[in-house]
Amino acid sequence: MKAVRFHTFGGIEVLRFEEAPKPAPGPNEVLLQIRVAGLNHLDIWVRNGARERKIPLPHISGSDASGVVAEVGSGVDHIKPGDSVLISPGISCGQCVQCLGGRDNICQSYHVLGTLEDGTYAEFTKIPAVNAVPIPAGMDFIQAAAVPLVFLTAWHMLVTLAQLRNGESVLVHGAGSGVGSAAIQIAKLHGARVIATAGSDEKLAKAKELSADELINYREKDFVDEVRRLTEKRGVDVVFEHVGGEVFEKSITVLTKGGRLVTCGATTEYRGTVDLRYVYSRHLTIHGSYLGTKRELHEVLKFFESGKLRPVIDKIFPLAEAAEAQRRMEERKNFGKIVLRV
Ligand SMILES: [Zn+2]
Repeated sequence: MKAVRFHTFGGIEVLRFEEAPKPAPGPNEVLLQIRVAGLNHLDIWVRNGARERKIPLPHISGSDASGVVAEVGSGVDHIKPGDSVLISPGISCGQCVQCLGGRDNICQSYHVLGTLEDGTYAEFTKIPAVNAVPIPAGMDFIQAAAVPLVFLTAWHMLVTLAQLRNGESVLVHGAGSGVGSAAIQIAKLHGARVIATAGSDEKLAKAKELSADELINYREKDFVDEVRRLTEKRGVDVVFEHVGGEVFEKSITVLTKGGRLVTCGATTEYRGTVDLRYVYSRHLTIHGSYLGTKRELHEVLKFFESGKLRPVIDKIFPLAEAAEAQRRMEERKNFGKIVLRV
């Protein structure tokens, strides 16, 4: 089969469009013929070797995809060849206390597809059958590949961890990212006032189309000053963070009493200093978040059937141009999801 692989860790130049062995599904697995694969920032971390040294080489990246079931392994009876599915990207053991309790994303073996094993930048991939989810009515393959990882991540952060309530305020950093554009919609769905940041007015205009209430161009204005002004010095109830470094540090200071900061990444800087005086005197909570549970993905998908949430597609590249697609994401030119047509 054709796939995009890398044989050494490094920059965009290590990605090669080449022949790779077609995987065979084992018991309780399905082989998916991929129609569309979605990019995530995780793909860049995997490729440059910054976080996952256990990745076997050569490696195929990619956690999101939609496609058609080509084959099923033994023991699979809830899904059959020809079914159109999207991938639930979190893989866990299915047997431990956490998995059985519905908290599979804190299973000891939990990981995202495309990290420890080959992912979706390919004509075929194999996945556990429980990770194959029927595509909701009215959603095409492109949309289905753009939804799972970012909407699941944002849902787990805002709804499950931060327990966002009607009437609260949320600061969403990086509105142009896939996860940021998902967070705006989920926060609005829950009746929150959304303050969105982005690095260009063009991206902020698109955030406005997603119903963000207030917009901050972080290249022109300090977000701390702006949040104080917009909230009349009160601060926000929730910060949606995935940038790290100085953004993380400053975000602690814009939370109001009882505020929650939820972080799912550190796209610019891994370290951030916390001024503990804010944490104790304002009763703050800091939540770390990694993807979400299988159940939560099913909950999120219902809102696409009813049209209350919608995928945000930035640009479609052919699979062979995966390197160009990753360059666009690394240069932060995208608003929403970049996908690969296979
Ligand atoms: Zn488990």
